[in-house]
Amino acid sequence: MISRRKFIAASSAVALGAIVKPVFANVKSLTKEDSQVKKEMIPMVISTWNHGIPANEAAWKVLETGGNSLDAVEQGVQIPEADPNVMSVGYGGFPDRDGHVTLDACIMNKDGDCGSVSFLQHIKHPIAVARKVMEETPHVMLSGEGALQFALEQGFVKENLLTDQAKKAWEEWKVNSKYLPKINAENHDTIGMLAIDEAGDIAGACTTSGAAYKYHGRVGDSPIIGAGLYIDNEVGGAVATGQGELVMKTLGTFLVVELMRNGMNPQEACKEAVKRIVTKLKNYKEFQVGYLAINKSAEVGSYCIHPGFNYALYQNDKNTLIDSDSYLKS
Ligand code: ASP
Repeated sequence: MISRRKFIAASSAVALGAIVKPVFANVKSLTKEDSQVKKEMIPMVISTWNHGIPANEAAWKVLETGGNSLDAVEQGVQIPEADPNVMSVGYGGFPDRDGHVTLDACIMNKDGDCGSVSFLQHIKHPIAVARKVMEETPHVMLSGEGALQFALEQGFVKENLLTDQAKKAWEEWKVNSKYLPKINAENHDTIGMLAIDEAGDIAGACTTSGAAYKYHGRVGDSPIIGAGLYIDNEVGGAVATGQGELVMKTLGTFLVVELMRNGMNPQEACKEAVKRIVTKLKNYKEFQVGYLAINKSAEVGSYCIHPGFNYALYQNDKNTLIDSDSYLKS
């Protein structure tokens, strides 16, 4: 007769087998032929949300003249960083609950080098500081006061980033002061950008003022390599937007790239990463998360929890806004 302990062990193994599907089991590994890029597909640049359109324009100027993907993404995301009407990135971003604009950003190049800043205040272009961290220090990430000090040493200028518009919104929020992130509220969240240059090399950037009215000191997914952004020039790249805590708990963009490494196309990989959130995190319906990915063949994929996430794709001389497919349909 099977003992009770053995029965429990046997049935939980069956149950576990049912829940934890080996996602790599039925996918083949990438071969060299799989990653052949058609010349007309590159250069290309892709980025999150409506503000991706003007950001792509700036990146395209670099790419179409033979510039590299790292310069392209850095130039591209600086457009929403400087735009006071984009209230989720850089200058003009919504403040935290104490009224401070605190910024997170990271950048990653074709060689797997990366730089990041988190909880940075008073600097309009955190992405440029992140690049300096990558190129001028032995580190990957600088945070808070240290990041600010480094930026000033590098010649960046200290500015007030809280616009009247953002201050007014914060004062209205303070009346009830409830932290309730709104899904797709402004349709202009974090900018995450991925580019492939003429040489076929991939780079990415991600920059944000983070969740509006967050706790002072909160850092989201966007500056975390493997959460907000991940690049592997042999495979592809991915960026995330939406509620950073869900992305951090599942190390979303690293997962997307690993899924592509194991044979999924970008669309399948983004879908699987959203499914990971849905199966692991009970409160997923309360939040939005969107993933965007490209592979070495310049194919594109995106997937999100709730409908409403979109992205801008500049390829074949056209810059187009595209709606992402979603897990929930309404
Ligand atoms: N992912 C960002 C964060 O959680 C915000 C966003 O993309 O909306 O900080």
